[in-house]
Amino acid sequence: MRRILIATTNSHKLREVREILDGRPVELITPDETAPLPEVIEDGRTFKENAVKKAVECARFTGEWTVADDSGLEVDALGGEPGVRSARYAGEDVSYENNNRKLLDALKDIPKERRTARFVCAIALARPEGLVFVVEGECSGVISEEHRGEHGFGYDPVFYPTGHTKTFAELGPEIKNQISHRNRALGKFREKLLAFINKEARSRREP
Ligand code: IMP
Repeated sequence: MRRILIATTNSHKLREVREILDGRPVELITPDETAPLPEVIEDGRTFKENAVKKAVECARFTGEWTVADDSGLEVDALGGEPGVRSARYAGEDVSYENNNRKLLDALKDIPKERRTARFVCAIALARPEGLVFVVEGECSGVISEEHRGEHGFGYDPVFYPTGHTKTFAELGPEIKNQISHRNRALGKFREKLLAFINKEARSRREP
């Protein structure tokens, strides 16, 4: 089993990653089982840049193979905002509700057909020597006009995924996990990870 540290303390993300990777040939460990993670400044211009930076710095610091993600919401009518600033859209240390309120305010005069958006998730794997790979997944949809639903976190109550008439927060984890940006990124991640582990094992057998 390949032991991999998930470099997040966000319990919602931890749960989703566990639910999606559950049963795979990896042992997932959390930051409370290693040395405390270093403070990584997320100053990249893209989700991929931030995920790579976090994974590489945490792997070097802890000595563990590390998976790190960066994710957020891009809204077309706002030129891609909040984007990499999704967590702090309404300011540092604000609640999910404040971010959602700011988003709905910013879109209050925008008609339904122009409220298109997508969630994006980049996931990077690094080992202490450096980056192994990075992948990205997306889930497209439309921003609602009001909060709906109680499940999930972040922008889930204001996002209708394409093909659904309920928000992520109404659909709940089972459906969300099948179609989410994180699921799509984790699907690619799982494929690349297995290929990498197999290649490593082969190169050890063939000197
Ligand atoms: P991160 O922790 O820097 O990746 O910030 C991601 C932010 O994007 C979160 O705080 C949420 O506001 C938003 N976000 C990312 N993924 C999701 C999701 O699956 N549902 C709702 N909001 C999300």
